Amino acid sequence: DRTLADFDPEVAAAVDSELSRQRNTLEMIASENFAPRAVLEAQGTVLTNKYAEGYPGRRYYGGCEYVDVVEQLAIDRAKALFGAEHANVQPHSGAQANTAVYFSLLKPGDTILGLDLAHGGHLTHGMKINYSGKILNPVPYHVRDADGLVDYDEVAKLAEEHRPAMIVAGWSAYPRQLDFARFREIADSVGALLMVDMAHFAGLVAAGLHPNPVPHADVVTTTTHKTLGGPRGGLILCKQEYAKKINSAVFPGMQGGPLEHVIAAKAVALKAAASEEFAERQRRTVAGARLLSERLTQADAAAAGVKVASGGTDVHLVLVDLVDSELDGQQAEDRLDEIGITVNRNAVPNDPRPPMVTSGLRIGTPALASRGFGDADFTEVADVIAEALKPGYDSAALRGRVEALVRKHPLYPGL
Ligand code: PLP
Repeated sequence: DRTLADFDPEVAAAVDSELSRQRNTLEMIASENFAPRAVLEAQGTVLTNKYAEGYPGRRYYGGCEYVDVVEQLAIDRAKALFGAEHANVQPHSGAQANTAVYFSLLKPGDTILGLDLAHGGHLTHGMKINYSGKILNPVPYHVRDADGLVDYDEVAKLAEEHRPAMIVAGWSAYPRQLDFARFREIADSVGALLMVDMAHFAGLVAAGLHPNPVPHADVVTTTTHKTLGGPRGGLILCKQEYAKKINSAVFPGMQGGPLEHVIAAKAVALKAAASEEFAERQRRTVAGARLLSERLTQADAAAAGVKVASGGTDVHLVLVDLVDSELDGQQAEDRLDEIGITVNRNAVPNDPRPPMVTSGLRIGTPALASRGFGDADFTEVADVIAEALKPGYDSAALRGRVEALVRKHPLYPGL
């Protein structure tokens, strides 16, 4: 019963340093968030010790009466929050949730349509060296050059031409809402299943700020750690008719024992996501992204070659287009890092630079909203970022402004 600090000072020191890093920088990676303390606590419990292969009430191990309570709470809360008929809370990650869906409802060689990775899609939506691209036959659809929006006419045309078994709607770097009714109509026109991967925008859906894909899709997958603000993990929602297939694809199809400590943390996060406080945080998240996109479309940013993909945002992120800037994505990421703002470089549609360099930045607001940032703070952050992307920026002055924001909104006080 030695503490971490006592038993393993090397690991403890690295964890402490990471806490300091999170406290002293502005976290703007769009897929990240700060899990609330109750979530961290649930994940750090003795539930990590328990084997519980199977599902609540039908386990292959003894002693599951308490983890059953926890897992059932998570299932019931997920179903209620998103209005789903069935929920599987066991996938260890978003990628595994997606893979389990393919494994359950498709056969090797089946065709899927997914948003091109280079246009904002995810690896698991058909990238060549991902399982989805190796085992299935992926056909990518794209965003339109003219306005950066998903080209639904192209989706319809590709569906007609390739007769996919499944259409995948969802994204990792796309600043707009999707039209799920349109995707459903296209899927129905060719007898395809519709899967929506709402990993990025699940928190916005929970807060009623984004259309809910659940009524439209056969299956909806998500991560629980992005806008949803929970522990790292995956979640699958589906119609009752697919429940058995999905459950058996997750276990025993792909996984052994579920991570019941993580599932406990998912249950806590799903409880939080049903609260008015959570909805208010998501409203600040979306407002913050909008303020950032407005600032980055002003004349001085345009003069520095900075553009905002699709001209704005409806969600929690802005995709910054640096094709005309003197900075490439790597340089811009490094420059923001230097002043204490963490973002990731990201390809923009039709990016002329290689994937390790890119011509874009993906900047998200969920973590700062969780930290308490409101409109005035996001206006200041937006101005700091706009200044940093200009030639002749003043690094020390901008770092000072970041430090002031960091001090104004302490992270995990008392941890
Ligand atoms: N789906 C989408 C749309 C994502 O953006 C991501 C993560 O970036 C995933 C799935 C995969 O989630 P994980 O990293 O938990 O495997």
